[in-house]
Amino acid sequence: MNVTKMVRVAAVATLAIGAVAGCAKEDTGGTTEGGVTLVKSGALTTCTHLPYAPFQSKDDSGKVVGFDVALIDLVATRLKVKQEIVDTPFEGIKSGADLNSGKCDVAAAGMTITDERKKVLDFSDPYFDATQALATQTGKEVKTLEELAGKRLGVQGGTTGEEYIKTQVQEKSLKIEVVSYKDLAALQQALATNQVVAAVNDLPVWNEYIKANPGKVVVAAGFDTGEQYGFAVKKGNAELLKEVNAALTAARGDGSYDKIYAEWIGEKPAA
Ligand code: GLN
Repeated sequence: MNVTKMVRVAAVATLAIGAVAGCAKEDTGGTTEGGVTLVKSGALTTCTHLPYAPFQSKDDSGKVVGFDVALIDLVATRLKVKQEIVDTPFEGIKSGADLNSGKCDVAAAGMTITDERKKVLDFSDPYFDATQALATQTGKEVKTLEELAGKRLGVQGGTTGEEYIKTQVQEKSLKIEVVSYKDLAALQQALATNQVVAAVNDLPVWNEYIKANPGKVVVAAGFDTGEQYGFAVKKGNAELLKEVNAALTAARGDGSYDKIYAEWIGEKPAA
């Protein structure tokens, strides 16, 4: 028996033991027919940070659903596997750490493509346009950042919204107390309970929140940051990136992108 064969036999033996013991830890990944390597065999593993409706959040049954989920399902279908979603802090997603350590194959987290992130991640073609928005409680509208002098403004840690506000505060020497929250739910809770007088996040998540909690909160001001979301893969994973982009192109061509957009976001802004 030559060395290659011996290795193969050993690998099969290991798999068999893993299967008998039902031990998921033995899964060292897999390769699809098309030659895409996956961290877990039979699955496209997605890292995301919950909650971030309408892009990803749990439905009443606890299933993670949303715009990003629906698009990545199309990639999984192309690869003939099922999508599996891992909820993990945004920091590890945007730093590339989760993709590098093999926690997941792809990141889908309403994540804006930025030059800094491009250094540590490979982004797909843009799949969504977003801007930042300032939300307040209804009847307590604030139109400009200047009006927030001496007051508390909430942001979500590690996001482009936080970065935008911190830059504005610095450049304009604004006397705002910026408070960072660990996720969107904590930020929205802070606004609802008067911990902050206003909160900044991506516009579509405020629109979604207002739909779910009518009358409580309004978008009082917008900041046209011209952001675009991208899915991300580990740097150098060209095979998977190609499939992600192919799925996006196909979805835009066959109407499924528009359908998913209408389902999760609503009416598309005029082009
Ligand atoms: N689009 C924002 C960013 O990339 C927020 C993403 C998020 O909180 N999931 O920073």
